[in-house]
Amino acid sequence: MALIVQKFGGTSVGTVERIEQVAEKVKKFRERGDDIVVVVSAMSGETNRLIDLAKQISEQPVARELDVMVSTGEQVTIALLAMALIKRGVPAVSYTGNQVRILTDSAHTKARILQIDAQRIQRDIKAGRVVVVAGFQGVDEKGNITTLGRGGSDTTGVALAAALKADECQIYTDVDGVYTTDPRVVAKAQRLDKITFEEMLEMASLGSKVLQIRAVEFAGKYSVPLRVLHSFQEGPGTLITLDEEESMEQPIISGIAFNRDEAKLTIRGVPDTPGVAFKILGPISAANVEVDMIVQNVAHDNTTDFTFTVHRNDYNNALQVLQSIAAEMGAREVIGDTDIAKVSIVGVGMRSHAGVASRMFEALAKENINIQMISTSEIKVSVVIEEKYLELAVRALHTAFELDAPASNTAE
Ligand code: ASP
Ligand code: MG
Repeated sequence: MALIVQKFGGTSVGTVERIEQVAEKVKKFRERGDDIVVVVSAMSGETNRLIDLAKQISEQPVARELDVMVSTGEQVTIALLAMALIKRGVPAVSYTGNQVRILTDSAHTKARILQIDAQRIQRDIKAGRVVVVAGFQGVDEKGNITTLGRGGSDTTGVALAAALKADECQIYTDVDGVYTTDPRVVAKAQRLDKITFEEMLEMASLGSKVLQIRAVEFAGKYSVPLRVLHSFQEGPGTLITLDEEESMEQPIISGIAFNRDEAKLTIRGVPDTPGVAFKILGPISAANVEVDMIVQNVAHDNTTDFTFTVHRNDYNNALQVLQSIAAEMGAREVIGDTDIAKVSIVGVGMRSHAGVASRMFEALAKENINIQMISTSEIKVSVVIEEKYLELAVRALHTAFELDAPASNTAE
């Protein structure tokens, strides 16, 4: 008999019919003898609808009041699911974040969980009830309703699983697992049976949208076995675990992530003297712009070029800051480029294999794709390329690292 936390996302509870289907699913698990705690999101689109309403009153709604409002989305789905379970003869009870007592800090709209009181839930489980908990929300010390940031129900699920020492946290969603890359770009992408927390974290921060980054961090920190599954299709999904088993079959690269969310800025002809990087990036960070990749060229005639990437939403802001710095420093010019994309290969296998980066560069060279920037970490190599080559690059790398599904497995 296992204790399982099951989280269902917005599309999985998007209609009354779907909520009934989720109830059927939970009932089946119960009949197998498992204890179940369910975490649900708001019905799909509901959180956006509520935020839009608030914006009709004020472009920048007061964060505390916004939380009071957006938390209602999840309050609706917990009650509906509990009703659907009870209708099926499954004893169930729903709780808001406040009722469980998911204690958070007071950072409205992006609160962090500090503590969860598991006792109430444990009493219900003992009494044979399925407990349905509202995702995304908590309460601060003073009793104010807080929310955890968009997509925060994943984090609620993982945090509850950690607090209850659950055997597994299952994240049900509209895909049947984590893939080697986005199947919309590479038809031969494959579902991964397993991936490590570290790899998943990289994949998530590099643009794979299957799981909220914070949830993966949390699960890794508390060693909560996490599984991504399709809500309405049978299948094993993808297990996200701690262990890196060293088997012969273990691929060097687990996945290829990419994103189009970045933009590149270059300041040319800055003096090659101590403190230059700080003079450039200090004001950028003071403007609250996060920098991702950075390249500084070898100096020539005592000047150098300095290039970095930022989120595309921050591009205009960063460009302005950079232009004023350039004037102060007497730099030659500032150039920007928003037509870039970042492609990354990710895999813990890189630690024990040499030549992974060069294999990546070779595959891109064969396709005549120019690499503009490179950055590496222990388990990832990222390159910036021209955006129009993105799909070609991802496909070439998927093939080069032998991630393509055997012909019999593809849909074509
Ligand atoms: N309903 C919230 C959102 O849309 C939380 C979630 O779905 O995880 O962001
Ligand atoms: Mg959602």
